[in-house]
Amino acid sequence: MNLSRAVGYIIRNEQRRTERSQETVQESTVRRSIRNEADNRRRPKRMCIRNDVEEHNCGTMSEQCGFWGAVYWKEEKNTAHKYTKCCHDGKVQLPAFPDAPELLKALLTENSPDAKNYRQRIREYNSAFAFTSMGAQI
Ligand SMILES: [Zn+2]
Repeated sequence: MNLSRAVGYIIRNEQRRTERSQETVQESTVRRSIRNEADNRRRPKRMCIRNDVEEHNCGTMSEQCGFWGAVYWKEEKNTAHKYTKCCHDGKVQLPAFPDAPELLKALLTENSPDAKNYRQRIREYNSAFAFTSMGAQI
């Protein structure tokens, strides 16, 4: 790969990251669902070593729980044709999360360069700090 192709690749990747960081959860779910379907169409048909095993397809991840909006694969309905695995048909209600610390809230909501950088690279930051505050008794 020559330098200009590599730079183009990096720029396109940054643009995609920026676009994705501004998506709503619903937009992200739809985009991933469309991409997964396209991937499945492009892939060659899988071969089974055992022909007594049937391939199962859950459909698209486009369904939602009627109570809290958790997303489901289309074929995840129970025998009553409902999506209940997340909250047992609205019976389980968890208290809301407490407010995030001010610094974290600012990084997640503001449009400062630091906040944008944080949102664009949130996975790298999470990985980098994953074990920094580990507590243990040895
Ligand atoms: Zn639910």
